[in-house]
Amino acid sequence: MHPSVWLVGAGPGDPELLTLKAVRILAQADIVLVDDLVGEGVLHYCPQAQIIRVGKRGGCRSTPQSFIQRLMLRYARQGLTVIRLKGGDPGIFGRSGEEIEWLARHGIACGIVNGITAGLAAATACNIPLTLRGIARGVSLVTAHTDDDSPPPWEALARSGTTLVVYMGVTRLDDISRQLQEGGLPGHTPVCMIENASLPYQRQIDSTLHEMPADGQAAGLRSPAILIIGSVAAQAGTQATSCSEYRSCMIPCSQEA
Ligand code: SAH
Repeated sequence: MHPSVWLVGAGPGDPELLTLKAVRILAQADIVLVDDLVGEGVLHYCPQAQIIRVGKRGGCRSTPQSFIQRLMLRYARQGLTVIRLKGGDPGIFGRSGEEIEWLARHGIACGIVNGITAGLAAATACNIPLTLRGIARGVSLVTAHTDDDSPPPWEALARSGTTLVVYMGVTRLDDISRQLQEGGLPGHTPVCMIENASLPYQRQIDSTLHEMPADGQAAGLRSPAILIIGSVAAQAGTQATSCSEYRSCMIPCSQEA
């Protein structure tokens, strides 16, 4: 069956990081349900489509997940090609699991297109290799924010020997720093905080695990940001060509549906 709904990863913001497949599918879309953190430049690839913004940031009215799912279903049943356009990769903290399950339950074929997840883009934007022979044998992608407010297993992560890439951690720098140190990660462990990775206004704050809360606060670190915690963060530098020269911006709240 040909998919009538696509979950498409828009990448971290820079449209040059879209996949060719995403560009092809966007060009075929009738309806695009646009999530938070989708770079405005990405929408240039679906000029023919009706854009419906369902983002939740910046104190804007949030669109309930159940409503978004019903919209997908309604438009798909009208025979339209529907894209659910998500920041980064749909399968990384993108709620794709529940949407796939919902569509399957209603007999709607769904295709998924990868995007570059923010954690990978943030590392690359700062020249950080997330794995390094003999130093970092793996990577853990972890969210600091869960629906039921249960904390991630920081102590186990501290002992994992992997580079930690933390999403949604900006308001929890204190907790993360303390719990990782309690788990045995030294306070001098290098940390790099990257705000708005891949966008022209990207910011990078180099720090250590111990200093991370104070440095984040002093710099006024704001969401969206990624924390990279581990020895590899010491390699942080700035790429000569880190941000491309396109003009892009986050979707302003006032335009939200
Ligand atoms: N599906 C997305 C993640 C959504 S969760 C992905 O794969 O990237 C939202 C979190 O992603 C933000 O709170 C932030 O931690 C991170 N994020 C998204 N875009 C970002 C960007 N351009 N720069 C830094 N962090 C970003």
